[in-house]
Amino acid sequence: MKISEFYKDHKPAISFEIFPPKRDSYLKDIEPTVEILADLKPDYISITFGAGGSVADNRTIDIARLIKEKYHVEPMVHMTCLNYDKNEIDLFARQMEEYGMENVLALRGDRREGVPEKHDFKYANELTDYLVSGGHDFCIAGGCYPEGHPECQDKEKDILNLKKKVDAGDSLLISQLFFDNRFFYDFLSLARKTGINVPITPGIMPVINKAQIERMTVTCGASLPPRFRRIMDRYGDNKEGLFDAGMAYLVSQAIDLLANDVDGIHLYSMNRPDVARRLVDSLKNLV
Ligand code: FAD
Repeated sequence: MKISEFYKDHKPAISFEIFPPKRDSYLKDIEPTVEILADLKPDYISITFGAGGSVADNRTIDIARLIKEKYHVEPMVHMTCLNYDKNEIDLFARQMEEYGMENVLALRGDRREGVPEKHDFKYANELTDYLVSGGHDFCIAGGCYPEGHPECQDKEKDILNLKKKVDAGDSLLISQLFFDNRFFYDFLSLARKTGINVPITPGIMPVINKAQIERMTVTCGASLPPRFRRIMDRYGDNKEGLFDAGMAYLVSQAIDLLANDVDGIHLYSMNRPDVARRLVDSLKNLV
């Protein structure tokens, strides 16, 4: 099923992101997480694709198959293009079709030291365009950035670049994580004014690991509001305390988003089914 269908009724779509574990036993390692996530009945689960990962030996697709074939939840496969040429993207798309995958998050990918870039694709809109013109019948989603993409200082220009992806065929946008909802509302209003009319689902992530959050904010450019920083400072070294406080923050963020009629909630689950369960339980009477 195409994920864009979930956004057609008026109920916000609930989705989770997971990433492939690094070890060779990745399928066995991830299955208990997938089992619990599937039991929470999300509309879909997206699976990241690591820059420089092998297209021929594609863990993202293996995990997507597990989610779809054994747990009957719709997967969304992340696909990046900066480090791949057209032949590799063709192979990726063929694998998706072979296993009945209908949903792809088309991304440029991050620049990583030591990972060589190829030259067929410079931006994500070119990947979307390539998939559409190649005749693939995918529902294509794109990434978006409530605080602006870190490489583009001018937010309006960033939104115009975002529109290129939608014009190329993205039928849904999923946002980068943010910790202050005001960024999302301002971004949403600018996107709508610019003529971006596809569903835009906010991505949120709990603060349950201080070091990880600090790393993430450097790589993705999300800023930490004072209320959030106080939680990290106060409970950063208290594992259980940070989990409870971080979950309370996440739930209040989600409730505010839902009260503002967002299209959905996309949880960066960090492969933590306990986080997803706590969030879903807290929202059960709200969605
Ligand atoms: P683009 O849309 O290409 O934008 C990148 C930059 O180029 C922006 O500054 C934009 O303003 C500018 N730009 C875009 N188009 C043009 C144009 N036509 N002309 C001039 N400038 C342009 N990374 C991974 O490696 N694997 C993942 O699985 C992954 N999952 C993600 C999931 C989500 C929901 C999000 C939001 C991001 C994810 N990322 C992932 C990170 C993403 O790859 C990086 O943020 C990357 O730096 C940008 O990707 P993009 O597709 O948004 O790029």
